[in-house]
Amino acid sequence: MILFIFDFDNTLGDTYGPYGEGNIFRTKTLSDVDKATEIYQKYRRWPDDILVYEKLLKELNIHHPEEFFIQAGMPNQLFPDVIPFLTKLQNTPNVKTVILTAGDELFHEMKVRITGASKLVNQVIVTRIRNKTDIIKRIIAHYEPESTVFVDDRIHMTAADFDTPITIYEMDRTHKKEGEFVIHWLDELPLEKLLWTK
Ligand SMILES: [Mg+2]
Repeated sequence: MILFIFDFDNTLGDTYGPYGEGNIFRTKTLSDVDKATEIYQKYRRWPDDILVYEKLLKELNIHHPEEFFIQAGMPNQLFPDVIPFLTKLQNTPNVKTVILTAGDELFHEMKVRITGASKLVNQVIVTRIRNKTDIIKRIIAHYEPESTVFVDDRIHMTAADFDTPITIYEMDRTHKKEGEFVIHWLDELPLEKLLWTK
């Protein structure tokens, strides 16, 4: 079995786009945009650059976050290639898929779910630790794949950090980088090659 692990923010979800949470907070929560930005920045810095949504939502008087984010368009946050690609993998034999996202547990679980991505993968895992190396090792130990493909827009490791076969791709949705292991669209993953096993 081949295991695919995908980051969410800026890999599957257009977090900085019109339906990203930053933009939603800045433009939809308060008529006073400066005030909203100030509140957002305050919580963004605490701690480890991960938003603490419970506090943020309380300060913004958002009592039904799921309803709020659905109405603000968050279900449209996925990049256009995501649903077709994950659906294709879902229909491919001997493939397992995991979304591994770093951030606030409650918020990220909700975000991945309301975009519809949750139901297209085998598992969604939220971690508070930005460097995902150790948790990827634990996921690999659990699934015991023949090889692993990891896709993230922020790469903190190399294949040499793992003692099992892994191919690491950097997702560059800004289309500024080039390289053998840099992709801009999920369809650039060489699926035939990656799925070929002895
Ligand atoms: Mg990311």
